[in-house]
Amino acid sequence: MTDPNSAGSSQHVVVIGAGPAGLSAAHELSRHRTLVTVMEQEGQVGGIARTLEFMGCRFDVGPHRFFSESPEIEALWTEILGHEIRPVSRLTRILYRGKFFDYPIRTSNAFLTLGPVETARCLASYARARLRPVESPTSFENWASNQFGHRLFEMFFKTYTEKVWGISTGELSADWAGQRIRGLNLVEVIGNAVLPSGLRGRGERTIAKTLAGSFHYPRRGAGQMWEAMASRLTAAGHSVRLGEEVVALRHAGGRVLSVVVRDRRGGTLDVLGSEFINTMPVRELIAKLHPAVPSMIRSAAEALGYRDVITVNVVVDRARVFPDQWIYVHDPGVKVARISNFKNLSRDMVSDSGLSGLGMEYFCFETDGLWHMSDAELLDLARRELVALGICRPDEVKAGTVHRQPNAYPVYDANYLDHLALIREWLARALPNLWLLGRNGVHQYNNQDHSMMTGILVARNIATGSRYDPWLINSDAEYQEEERAGEAPGRLGIGRESGRSVPHRIAS
Ligand SMILES: Cc1cc2nc3c(=O)[nH]c(=O)nc-3n(C[C@H](O)[C@H](O)[C@H](O)COP(=O)(O)OP(=O)(O)OC[C@H]3O[C@@H](n4cnc5c(N)ncnc54)[C@H](O)[C@@H]3O)c2cc1C
Repeated sequence: MTDPNSAGSSQHVVVIGAGPAGLSAAHELSRHRTLVTVMEQEGQVGGIARTLEFMGCRFDVGPHRFFSESPEIEALWTEILGHEIRPVSRLTRILYRGKFFDYPIRTSNAFLTLGPVETARCLASYARARLRPVESPTSFENWASNQFGHRLFEMFFKTYTEKVWGISTGELSADWAGQRIRGLNLVEVIGNAVLPSGLRGRGERTIAKTLAGSFHYPRRGAGQMWEAMASRLTAAGHSVRLGEEVVALRHAGGRVLSVVVRDRRGGTLDVLGSEFINTMPVRELIAKLHPAVPSMIRSAAEALGYRDVITVNVVVDRARVFPDQWIYVHDPGVKVARISNFKNLSRDMVSDSGLSGLGMEYFCFETDGLWHMSDAELLDLARRELVALGICRPDEVKAGTVHRQPNAYPVYDANYLDHLALIREWLARALPNLWLLGRNGVHQYNNQDHSMMTGILVARNIATGSRYDPWLINSDAEYQEEERAGEAPGRLGIGRESGRSVPHRIAS
C-alpha cells in the first residue's frame, strides 16, 4: 500500500477507534481495495469488546456473547475465526439472598427455590396487587408491583435495575418494562407448578420476553475476534496504529481535512484523509472539531450522557466456583451487579485449570465515589462481596486487577433524541465526509453485531456510493445487553429506527 500522506492516494479513509465498528468498517473498505488507517488510543484493539489478560486469566469487559440475527455477521465471525469461535449453551442465574434462581426467571422454579413460607408471602402480595393495583402506573416500580406483587418486584427487579441504571425504580418510567417483561398469570403459574409436564398447556413461559439459549464465543475471549480482524488489515497493507489518540479534527471548506493524533510520548501529527469515520462518543467528537462548531451544536453534544462500568477482575484459587457463565446479583447488600466466570465461556480463558477468573461488574457514573476509589479499595470491596455472597473464602482470592470503562452505556434521557437529531442534521450538512458509527458514535445500545453493521454499511457508502443510513440500524436497545426481540431482519438485519426500549426517567 502507498503512504497515505503522499500525493497519489485517491481515497484514504481515516478511522477513529479500533473497536468492532471501526475495524469492521476498515475490513469492508479493505475488501473494496480502499486504503485505511485506523487510529486507536489504547494499546490494544477491540474497544469495549477487548479481552484483558492478568496472571494467565483472560477477562472481557463484561462477558461478550456473539449472537446475531444477521447471517452476514454470523458468517463474517466464522470467516475471521473459523473453529476458534464455538457454541456455548447458556447457563445464567440470579443470586438473591444466598439462593440461585433460573434466568430467564421461571415462576415455578422461583417458588420452589423460595420455599413454602416465602412463596405464600409472595402470593399474598401478588393477590393484594391484583385486588388493589396502583391506578395508571407511570413508574417502573408501580407497574412491576401491579404485575407481580411488591415482594416479587423487590426480589427480581428493583435492586438489579437500580444497580445498572443508577436511578430509583420509583423514578423510572413504566413503558420500558411493559416492552420487556411479561406479566404474571397465576393460573398458569400454579398449573405449571402442580401439573405433570405433559398436561401443561403450552409449557411454562418465562418472565423475560426473549432470550437465546445459546451463543458463540471465541476460544480466547471476545478480543480474539478483533485482534484477528486487525491482523488481517495489517497483512493487507493497512495501518492500525495503537496508542495514538485523536485529539482534534481539522475542518475547512465544508470538509474534514485531517485528524491530529497524539502518541504516548506526547508528540502530535496530522493525518490527512479523504473520508473520516468516527466511533468515539458523539460528545467528545463534537468537542474535538476545530475550528469549534456552532454553540447550539456544542451544547447539544455536551448534554449527552453516559453510564460507566468498572470491572474488578479477580483470580480465585479454586477450579470450580460456580457453573454459570455469569450470575446476576440481586442482593441489595452488595454493589456488584454481575459476576462472570470466564472459564465457563471457554476453558482456555484460564491457563491453569486449577484457577478461576471472575469478572465483577460495578455500574456507576464517573462522578460517583466508586469511580474514584483506588484499585486497592475496589479489590478489597470485591473480595468482601465475594465472601458475603458465599462465592469463595477470602484467602482464595489470589490477586485482582481493575478496569474502568468510561462511556459504557449511552444514556437515553428525555431529550437525547432531540440533541442527536440536531447534531446529525448539522454534521450531514456541514461535514459530509465525516461518518458517525458504532455504539457511541450513534449513541445507541448497539451490541457488537449492530456496531459492525453500522461500520460495514458506511464502508459501502464510501466505497460504492450506496446510501445506507447507519442511524437506522435496528439496535432495538435492550436491557443489560440481552437478546433482541425478533423483527425479521434483512441480510444485514437492517430495520427501522428503533424506539426507546431502555428505562428512562418519568418526565417531570
Ligand atoms: C458491560 C457490557 C457488556 C456487553 N456485552 C455484550 C455482549 O454480550 N454481546 C455483544 O455483542 N455486545 C456486548 N456489548 C456491546 C459491545 O461492547 C459494543 O457493541 C461494541 O464494543 C461497540 O463497538 P464500537 O466499535 O462501536 O465501540 P467501542 O467498543 O467503544 O470502540 C471504540 C474505540 O474507539 C477508541 N477511541 C475512542 N476515542 C478515541 C480517540 N479520541 N482516538 C483514538 N481512539 C479512540 C476507543 O479506545 C475504543 O477502542 C457489551 C457492552 C458492555 C458495556
